[in-house]
Amino acid sequence: MNRAPYRSWIEVSRSRIANNFQAVKALTAGAAEVVPVVKADAYRHGAVEVSRILEQGGASWLAVSNVEEGVALRRAGIGARILVMADFLPFEIQALREHHLTPVIHSLEHIADLDRLGSPIAYHLKIDSGMGRLGTLADPSQIAAAVSNAHNAMLEGLMTHFASAGDYTKPQTESQVENFNTVANRLAESGIHPRYQHMGSTIAVAYGRRDSWKNMVRVGHAIYGYVSPARGDQAPAQLLKVEPALSWKAAILAVKEVPTGTKIGYGGIYTTEQPMRIGIIAAGYADGIPHRLSNKGRLIAGGHFAPILGAVSMDLTTIDLAKAPNLKPGDAVTIIGTEGNATQNAQQLAKDAGSISYSVLCGISARVHRLYVD
Ligand SMILES: *Cc1c(COP(=O)(O)O)cnc(C)c1O
Repeated sequence: MNRAPYRSWIEVSRSRIANNFQAVKALTAGAAEVVPVVKADAYRHGAVEVSRILEQGGASWLAVSNVEEGVALRRAGIGARILVMADFLPFEIQALREHHLTPVIHSLEHIADLDRLGSPIAYHLKIDSGMGRLGTLADPSQIAAAVSNAHNAMLEGLMTHFASAGDYTKPQTESQVENFNTVANRLAESGIHPRYQHMGSTIAVAYGRRDSWKNMVRVGHAIYGYVSPARGDQAPAQLLKVEPALSWKAAILAVKEVPTGTKIGYGGIYTTEQPMRIGIIAAGYADGIPHRLSNKGRLIAGGHFAPILGAVSMDLTTIDLAKAPNLKPGDAVTIIGTEGNATQNAQQLAKDAGSISYSVLCGISARVHRLYVD
C-alpha cells in the first residue's frame, strides 16, 4: 500500500483545475471575461497542461508573467489570447509580435516602441492606481495623447492591480478603484473606450468586489483551488467554492529507532527527550519544503500529522513516526494533500513557515516529478 513511485512528486488533478475555472466563470457570468493566470508554470501545476485544460474549458484568454512563458505556450500549440503582465525588455519586443502575445504596457514610451514595430499589435495599459509598483502614473491627458498618436499599437484594455484587496480594515482598494475610474472616465471624454477594463484577481472575485470586475478579471490562485483569507470585521463571506488541485508526496528513505538524547540533523537543533521512531524523507528545501519549517510544521504520515524534527536540509527532512509505526522505507508521506482524516494544504504549510501559499506552490522545484490525474 502507498508505495512511492518517485522520491518526491506532485499529483495535479485535471478535473479540479477545470471545476475551479468553471466556478470562477459561474460567479462572474454575465459580468466579466475570466483570464486564468498561468504564470510561473501555472503556480507549478504545469503551464502547458493547465492551459490545455483551460482552453478545453472555454478559456479564450490566458495570462503569463513574461514573454518567454508566452512563447512556450505558443510552441505547445496554445491558441488563446495571451496577456504578458510583467513588462518586457528591449530584447523581447520582437518575440511579442512574432508569437501574437498581448503585452501589458506600463509606460507611455513603450506605446511608441510598440508602434514602431510597424504592424498592428494590441496592448493593455496598466495604470498605477495606488499599488506603487508597475503601471503608469501619467496624467490622463498625456495617456490620451500617447494612445491617439499610435497607429499600429492599439489600446485594447485598461487595467490596474490591487495591493490589498483582501484587507477590509483599510480603504486602499476603494481608493484604487476610484483612481482607476477617474482615469477611465477622462479617457472616455477624449473618445478612448478600451474594449476591456480590468482590476480584480482572485480575492476581488472571491469576496465579491463587483465594482472592480468591470468586464474582465485575472484569476490565478483560485484556479489552483486557493483563496487567501480576508482581513477585518467588515470582510464579506467568501463566495467562491474551489478545491486545491495539487497534492505533494515524498518517499520514506529510512526508518530508525533512536535513543533519548539523540540530536537530529544539521546544527543539532532537536534533541530527543525519549526514545523515538523517526522517518527520513526524500525531500528537502531543494524540492521546495521551506527551510523555515525546521523544527516546526508537519507532514502527514500514515494518515496522521507527523512533526518535522530538526533542520529541513537540502535533500532530506526528518519526521516523528510515533503515530505511524507501520510505515517502512519506500512508503509515501504527504507534504500537501489528504491522508485519512488529516489534511494539509499549501496555506497551512505556509502559515507554519511564516510564508504565503503562493510562495509555497511556486517553490515546488523542478526536481519534483509532476503527474496528472483525473
Ligand atoms: C499574478 C497576478 C494575478 C493573479 O493573482 P491571483 O491572486 O493569483 O488571482 C493577477 N494580476 C496580476 C497583474 C498578477 O501579477
